[in-house]
Amino acid sequence: MSILKNAIDSIAIGLEDYQSPDERRIVSSTRNIFAGILLLFKHKLCELSPPDSDEALIKQRVLPEIDVTGAVRWIGKGNKTVDVQNIKERFDSLGISIDWKRVDNINKYRNDIEHYFSSRNTQSVQQLISDSFLIIRDFISEHLSEDPKQLLGDDAWGVLIKVNEVYEKEKTTCVEALETLSYFNDEILNAFESYSCAKCGSGLITPSERNVEAIEVEYTCKSCGKALPYEDIVKPVISDYFGSEVYLAHTQGGELPITDCPECDGIYLYNEGICSSCGHVAEHECQRCSSTIQPEELYTEPFCGYCAHVMSKDD
Ligand SMILES: [Zn+2]
Ligand SMILES: [Zn+2]
Ligand SMILES: [Zn+2]
Repeated sequence: MSILKNAIDSIAIGLEDYQSPDERRIVSSTRNIFAGILLLFKHKLCELSPPDSDEALIKQRVLPEIDVTGAVRWIGKGNKTVDVQNIKERFDSLGISIDWKRVDNINKYRNDIEHYFSSRNTQSVQQLISDSFLIIRDFISEHLSEDPKQLLGDDAWGVLIKVNEVYEKEKTTCVEALETLSYFNDEILNAFESYSCAKCGSGLITPSERNVEAIEVEYTCKSCGKALPYEDIVKPVISDYFGSEVYLAHTQGGELPITDCPECDGIYLYNEGICSSCGHVAEHECQRCSSTIQPEELYTEPFCGYCAHVMSKDD
């Protein structure tokens, strides 16, 4: 019970910090809430640890021992407990799925706030709490099989719900504004909607105008105020959006969803057949041999890599 109680206490204290009029408590708010989430995860690992293994699953060091029957048992050693990376690996291996992208975002935000407190404000913590709410709620109901409202208590639950609602409302306003713009392709809009500010991690990105071309306006983060023109923000927006697909293509094979644009230094959406920066539509069929030009050889369009190579020899 003790780890679970610590987790719930830590989250409750974090939420009290958040509600305090003393702005300096924002840092401890984010720290406590994140610590509470990790403790929830550790509680699960504790529950799953075999009896008499000295809580093997939450220890960084786990060593084999031979028991009286001659069987090998894995025993937790030392005081060091698992860190975020260890938890990820163990949950993965145990088949416990978590929205790690969201957890990483909370962690990054918490870390940033500790280092750059002055550039943050109470409002910008709303997203951290809103993200935390979703993680906490889902983890408690799906993996601890408890009622989150009952476990957290009415006060903490009420704050989480309220902050989440406020954040969602603002997020909806941002998304509605983004949707009034015209993009080279719908995937670009989807990428903008799921983007979080590179400076502060907030998902509240809003365009400076409505009902115009997306490439004509500036995009401002409502939390930290960072503003970027389309040409600068579109690259991180697209590479973040396709990040995991690109990673999979590199590690497990398969087609790259994006590649360098042959016309500009932007990112070309291969499946959509258009550049996200300049709108260039490349030739995907080789003009010499009619084979498909692959993403990684698109820079030689309108020819495939092979034909471009052969033709360069003919010169
Ligand atoms: Zn920002
Ligand atoms: Zn381009
Ligand atoms: Zn060819």
